Amino acid sequence: MKVLVLGAGQLARMMALAGAPLNIKISAYDVRSGKIVHPLTQEVLGQGLENGIADADVITAEFEHIAPDILSVCQASGRFYPGEEAILTGGDRRKEKTLLDRAGVNNARYQVIENRDDYDAAIAKIGLPLILKSALDGYDGKGQWRLKTDRDIDAVWQDIGQFLKTSPQGSRQCVIAEEFVPFDREVSLIGARNAQGELEIYPLTENIHTNGILSVSISAGENDAVQSQAEAMFKSVADTLNYVGVLAIEFFDVDGTLMVNEIAPRVHNSGHWTQQGADVCQFENHLRAVCDLPLGSAKRIRPTAMINIVGNVTVPTSVMHQAHVHWYDKEPRPGRKIGHINLCADSASTLGDTLDSIAELLVDDEFPALKLAADNLR
Ligand code: ATP
Ligand code: MG
Repeated sequence: MKVLVLGAGQLARMMALAGAPLNIKISAYDVRSGKIVHPLTQEVLGQGLENGIADADVITAEFEHIAPDILSVCQASGRFYPGEEAILTGGDRRKEKTLLDRAGVNNARYQVIENRDDYDAAIAKIGLPLILKSALDGYDGKGQWRLKTDRDIDAVWQDIGQFLKTSPQGSRQCVIAEEFVPFDREVSLIGARNAQGELEIYPLTENIHTNGILSVSISAGENDAVQSQAEAMFKSVADTLNYVGVLAIEFFDVDGTLMVNEIAPRVHNSGHWTQQGADVCQFENHLRAVCDLPLGSAKRIRPTAMINIVGNVTVPTSVMHQAHVHWYDKEPRPGRKIGHINLCADSASTLGDTLDSIAELLVDDEFPALKLAADNLR
């Protein structure tokens, strides 16, 4: 089986690693250069999307910020999963909010902003504080503004107005104003759905972000009521999209009630723990789904934590006594994810102890939130 992945980053790389035992061969289409590359070596294998599609049994994607013309060419092949609509929806907060409403799942109140009048109307309707997010091209907290007090209304509009005027997306770009949700914690749910509508859903993962970037993600045990809420919303969103593949949903937990923040129509950073912590990892399950193979068990086999390696930081090899290290073979740059560390334990409290001892080996500023994550486990 040959799978072409749109995007040639670490997610395509990890799909290639997970697909190898199944004889699934992955090539990656680098949407910027138009080259088809090997996802592990980056060796150039060919040129042009059409050639990549002609040579593939199945086409999928590792990210959602892909130009619509590329998506429509893939869709026309009839072999693109989860497909054009799902990727467009994940890449556009306006479409995403419409989907969440259509699927009937709880999400933050919002207004679409295209001009100053819309902005003033959103402030009047939702009230402050507000979070404002670009509809297109947002990730890792980029393209976001926070409006906390009346005093800042004009200054924040200055920025947003300028952003809308100069956006390379032109009139497709807009901003979504959202009510500020006073959440207790952030969790995400990863699951796979196949073409027959069958589901395999992993246990919830708790996520700790620093400056908009995921620092630590932990799956160690979950309240059944919260897990059931998340699964019901997952099913509703995935069925509405007639989704095929792995889908990730990020939630806010407000006093035991979940609210969807956003969806990602792909394998997700907060699912990397499944490589060591689940029966079948998210990358293999995504390939199983899109290749129409039986889905694998998403059962958690042991409490597991994932720590992102971001930027130019030091990871002593001694962490390997207690953990699995996954490098992406990327040049370090500030804010760039270049690898992750997975650590497992027999129980949540032992996982807290292991996190503490790994934290001893790492520089606090380079790996924020480890102590907080460890404390949450006890
Ligand atoms: P990523 O791609 O890394 O998931 P993103 O740039 O797509 O991030 P969001 O997930 O929407 O953006 O927002 C980033 C973070 O900002 C969230 O994880 C959350 O901590 C905070 N946030 C977003 N929306 C709200 C909200 N309505 N109320 C309170 N906090 C919010
Ligand atoms: Mg997010």
